Amino acid sequence: MSKTANEEICAFHYHNKSTLKCALCGLPICDSEEDFTIDGKKICALCSNSPKASKFRKYIQLGTLLITLPSVILIFWLVPSENSYQLWAFLALVPIMIGLLIGGNRLLTRIAYKGLEKHQMILPLIRYFEASGNDQFYKIFVKNLKKLSDEELEEMRKPLYEYLIPAIIFNYSKLHENWKEDLLKYLKLDEIAFAKIFAEVFKTLLINIAVHDAKADLSKFIFYLGEITENDEIIRDYIKAISSNDIKNLKDDLLKRDYDMLLEELFLYEEIFYSVCDRLNLQKEKEALAALLKRYEPPTVPKSAVDAIKLKRDQVLEMQRKGLVSSKGDFELADEETAESEKTTEES
Ligand SMILES: [Zn+2]
Ligand SMILES: [Zn+2]
Repeated sequence: MSKTANEEICAFHYHNKSTLKCALCGLPICDSEEDFTIDGKKICALCSNSPKASKFRKYIQLGTLLITLPSVILIFWLVPSENSYQLWAFLALVPIMIGLLIGGNRLLTRIAYKGLEKHQMILPLIRYFEASGNDQFYKIFVKNLKKLSDEELEEMRKPLYEYLIPAIIFNYSKLHENWKEDLLKYLKLDEIAFAKIFAEVFKTLLINIAVHDAKADLSKFIFYLGEITENDEIIRDYIKAISSNDIKNLKDDLLKRDYDMLLEELFLYEEIFYSVCDRLNLQKEKEALAALLKRYEPPTVPKSAVDAIKLKRDQVLEMQRKGLVSSKGDFELADEETAESEKTTEES
């Protein structure tokens, strides 16, 4: 997903450059890591704790069951049924069960993060949240963020932002309502400063993705910026960046290869986009982007299933004509690739 500059920093030691990746979860790690290995490959502390933690989770589940079932049977059996004694006994059972679960979960967290300092958990937790969308990781991240000393916070700001902002963007819907207020309080930032950092990291991310992976989610960018700030400066910066001279002078094949997604976004949100340009008084950029868009060929949308098959057959024939596919194996592969790209188009 987010392949940004943060890959150079060890997720556990923000002072160190990363030299390798954990063989299991892919987090960037460094040489100063303890030697956790699996099949001779180096893994991170979290992955090394993970088997113990999952074993413990099973014990908690089993333990809860072993306590609950006999208690319920005993209540039915021993407690007299008149005067709602049984009901009271059940009600008394509830806080006990809740206490056990909370205690068990605390212990589980301790096992999972064993051997790690607070500041060492910050970046991995953000990455886990980004990858899984599970807001439990975000909650534990915030808990640890709160506990950072001022020095620690100052020292790790840069990697922290590089991890955090993509995670927020990709899992925006998973965050609770007051996430921004909370986060700003613990990061000791005001809203404008955060918006600037947000835009800077996201801009780098977007432009990197646009250049390297042929993907750029312009609509997301504008949407999130709208959520984060009313500061038009940042949107203006981004529009200027994507309509730079480098892009205008691109040859057709490079344009198609590297900017297809960006142009597709532009194509889909053309009206909105131009109105943003008008509002921000970016006439030169608007013209440049319009010229860029003229060179873009939107994908043909089939009108019916029959059309879809015909379109696919034409594509394959065209590829065969160009010598891109020859044998049957290639044919299938090419078909799969088209299906993949169709899926991505559908999703976006
Ligand atoms: Zn790992
Ligand atoms: Zn390290």
